[in-house]
This record gives sequence, C-alpha cells and structure tokens, in this order.
Amino acid sequence: MTESTARLDELRGTAPTCRHNARTIAALTSNPGCTRRALLDAAAVDKAAIARELGYPPQFGQSQFAITRGNAFEAMVKANGCAELLALLRMKLGLTIPEAAYEDLNAIGENTGNAVRYKRTRQLLERALQTGEGTLFDHPLLRLEIAGATAHLEPDVVAVQIEGKFHVVEIKAFAVIDGQAEPAQVAAAARQSAVYVLALRELLGELGEPPERVSHNVVLVCPRDFTNRPTAELVDVRKQLAVITRQLSRMTAITDLIEGLPEGMTFDLGEGLGEMIAATPARYAPECMSNCELAFMCRDEARRCGSVDVLGRGICDELGGIDSLTTVLGLADGSLTPGPEHADIARILREAHRLRQELAG
Ligand code: SF4
Repeated sequence: MTESTARLDELRGTAPTCRHNARTIAALTSNPGCTRRALLDAAAVDKAAIARELGYPPQFGQSQFAITRGNAFEAMVKANGCAELLALLRMKLGLTIPEAAYEDLNAIGENTGNAVRYKRTRQLLERALQTGEGTLFDHPLLRLEIAGATAHLEPDVVAVQIEGKFHVVEIKAFAVIDGQAEPAQVAAAARQSAVYVLALRELLGELGEPPERVSHNVVLVCPRDFTNRPTAELVDVRKQLAVITRQLSRMTAITDLIEGLPEGMTFDLGEGLGEMIAATPARYAPECMSNCELAFMCRDEARRCGSVDVLGRGICDELGGIDSLTTVLGLADGSLTPGPEHADIARILREAHRLRQELAG
C-alpha cells in the first residue's frame, strides 16, 4: 500500500465506501476544480451518506419510472441476440452480413462474478483481435483504475468490431425527435460512453493494441420520434475523453491535495464531520445540482458566504475575479468605489442597476 493510499483510507475512516461506475466517473468531470469532491472521490467516500448525515439528503438521480423504461427499451433492442441492433449497425456503420456473431457476457455459465466476467471479456476480445471472430459483446466487463482502486465497468451494451475498429454502443431511453435529442441528455450519455471508451482502450492496450483501435465515435441508440423503434447516431466523444483523462490523472496526483490537510483528518460519520467537510475547499456551481450528492449543502454554504459562485461560471467570469456578492452589490449601487482593476465591470454593474431601478420604479 502506498503512502497516499494509506492516507486516503485514513481519510475515509469508517465512512461508507462508494464504488465508482461509469456514471460517477463521468460526473467527476463536471467540476474538476473542486478540491472537496476530488478528495472525497479519491478516498471513495459515499458522498450521499455524508450529505444525509449533515442534513442535506441528495435529491437527484433517475426516477423508478425512467429506470424501468430504460431497461425495457434496452431489452427490446437486445432481444434475439441483438437482432434490432444488428439491423441498425448494418445501416449506420456498414456492418456486413457475416459480421453478426453475438456473445453474451452478462454471466459465464452460472457465474456472474466480476473476475470471471472480466477474464472472459479479455479472452473474447483477444480472440476477436487475432481472428476477427465475434462482433457484438453484450455487457462486457471492463476495468479502470481510479486513484489506485479498480472500478469495474459494464458498457450498457457492446463493443463492436467494424473494419478493424471497436465501437462502444450505448442504449438510452430518451427520444430522438426529428433527428434531435435533448442536448443535456446527449452530453451525459457522451460523458458516460467516453468512460467506456477509455476502459476499453486500457484493456486493448494491455493486449498490445494502440488507443485508436477503439473508435472515438460511439454509437448512441435511442427511441425514434414518438415510437419505441430504435435509431442510431454516431457521437464523437474526443472532447469528453480529454477531460476525463485529465481529471483521472489529477486524481492519481492527489498527493498534493492530501499534503495540505491537517494531521488526523477523517470523514468519519458523526461529530466533527461538518467541520472536516467545511475545512476542504469547495467550488460550488449551479451544475453541481445535477451532478454531485453534496450540492444542497455546498449551495447553502456558498449562499451563507455570499459567494458569487451561486450565480454560475459564466457570470463569475463576467465579474472578472470579484468573488463576493456584497462587493458586486456595493459596486452596482455606488456605495463602493472600485479599484482600477474593477473600473470597467463597476461601470456595467452601475448601468444594470440604473436600468433595473427604472424598470422597478
Ligand atoms: S456539490 Fe460541492 S463537493 Fe460537489 S462538486 Fe459541487 S462544490 Fe464540489
């Protein structure tokens, strides 16, 4: 055990452990500048348990209805050895008729253990590389190292070999209407798929293959228009891959963050937890509300501190480094005199304040 792994274990203390999955790994990229989240995730602390303990139960995640609908759509697309999916891939990617072999990796015989499924996935992908055998791999099991711990990942569907390249296929139940889908949902699916691409590249890398062997274009399968019929679109996840790779390397370099922490600090549930959490710097942004279990707590904290972070990154950038709402309001109503570095923004704030007064009056 390395020194930093031991320190992360100490930090977690008896707090519940949280295992990463593609969704939680993808969420890491939503606020890469937050030290609080980086530390809690690196130490694999269950943030939902922390939030509940501190009186801010998390209120996001998929509804039971959405989960059931997603499972039903996936089952339909994958019925009869992925027959629907094969038809779509033939159209979208030019998959030829002989390229139709299907391998179910949900269980190996009766065994659903991670180790045996990973081993079988590796064997089949190696065989596919050597002989070209095998086209669709249903729920292969992949691995990714997150701050020294192994996360097991299960691509929603399959990796497909087309013209020598593997493609990650992601099945989602949100609708594509007239060729358009909700951008936030597509972005979330792209982030999640990028995690699978990364994990698949790791595995093929161990087998001596270059990263390009796994395509950066993932196949997103969704219901078309207002029907239950599937449609497939290619989504380029290069940008998401770059962000996730950067964030994961930052987590493995977590030693710098640990060094600044007080001796004996721990996230044990119980007395003193609030002070420990408050001692780790956060960087709240409105996007946290849909990405992090601690969002309600951090938003409350940012509001109490009068931080401009509650207004969102875009407005913070416009404010040119002013970090307090009191200062912003003071510059706007003229009760504060700006320094030369804030003269421009003060002029804009005063103008906005004047317009608001006119409209209100
Ligand atoms: S909710 Fe808090 S801990 Fe989570 S990412 Fe935002 S600021 Fe960081």
